Amino acid sequence: MGADRIRSLTLSHVVLPLANPVSDAKVLTGRQKPLTETVLLFCEVRTEQGREGMGFSYSKRAGGPAQFTHLSEVAQVAIGQDPSDIAKIYESLMWAGASVGRSGVATQAVAALDVALWDLKARRADLPLAKLLGAHRDSCRVYNTSGGFLQASVDEIKEKATASLEAGIGGIKIKVGQPDWAEDLRRVAALRDHLGDAPLMVDANQQWDRARARRMCRALEEFDLIWIEEPLDAWDAVGHADLSRTFDTPIATGEMLTSVPEHMALIDAGYRGIVQPDAPRIGGITPFLRFATLASHAGLALAPHYAMEIHLHLAAAYPTEPWVEHFEWLDPLFEERIEIHDGQMWVPDRPGLGFTLSERMRSLTKETATFTA
Ligand SMILES: [Mg+2]
Repeated sequence: MGADRIRSLTLSHVVLPLANPVSDAKVLTGRQKPLTETVLLFCEVRTEQGREGMGFSYSKRAGGPAQFTHLSEVAQVAIGQDPSDIAKIYESLMWAGASVGRSGVATQAVAALDVALWDLKARRADLPLAKLLGAHRDSCRVYNTSGGFLQASVDEIKEKATASLEAGIGGIKIKVGQPDWAEDLRRVAALRDHLGDAPLMVDANQQWDRARARRMCRALEEFDLIWIEEPLDAWDAVGHADLSRTFDTPIATGEMLTSVPEHMALIDAGYRGIVQPDAPRIGGITPFLRFATLASHAGLALAPHYAMEIHLHLAAAYPTEPWVEHFEWLDPLFEERIEIHDGQMWVPDRPGLGFTLSERMRSLTKETATFTA
């Protein structure tokens, strides 16, 4: 087959409205507005031999136009490179955008291209990405998040939780972290009662201080939760490490972090909980895999954040049994649907990520940019 070259890159800036706005604890504490849309950066790669790959990154509330602009500025350095040399291309993209830094918008923008190169490589090998990486399993435990936001009443959440379980999704996560912490506990108690012993997680979205977090973790122990997510500010590695060594209920964190060093701070602080890297946020599959190796050596469990279309493959390749987060929000952008039953999400048997972009994705595209030699 010989060495191939990247012939063109097409970037698309996509705005996907949510059917209904959602609120987590950051809205109830007045720090953010309800979420009304997801903004995505898609990258489609084509090679001289006619091969294709597709990747994406995303943002919520802010950053979408910046990601599109940043990747537009640096994308040209990938043209003409061998698409199999992903690490080399990654480094050249980082150097091209070096003055922006190696976290935040810079890594999130480059992630779209990095994911597309991994998709292309797996398609070229005619393997699902999980198999290319070296899978441990064909399916992963799955839990739903989209039904458990704070604008929803307890009755609405119970109804959605029942629907999720009936659809074969094994676990249910609900949001906590509102200013009225007693109301948090009432909602958790009501859901635990409703679910019986089905897996239940809670997510405080960084809205407790250290003192409140300790009290809440202690009060939540009786509910036998799978984890307590983001009890503290996302960059409080020491605080998360402390909680993870104090309570029986596992702590989970990491979704906001946008580089390998930011995640490494958790390990360096002695964190014992669950890590939640997000490939689009950490900078793509390349840095995700680097951190996953370090995390597994540190004995940490994995539950990647959001973007199940990518993370199902990465979770399937993690040594210890992970959880994958179910959000149906991105479904309209793709032709295919992921198989879910018996509490598990099944890795598609199609090559690459296993997704093709839909007509709806094209109709939601606000701007494109194409780069060629
Ligand atoms: Mg979360």
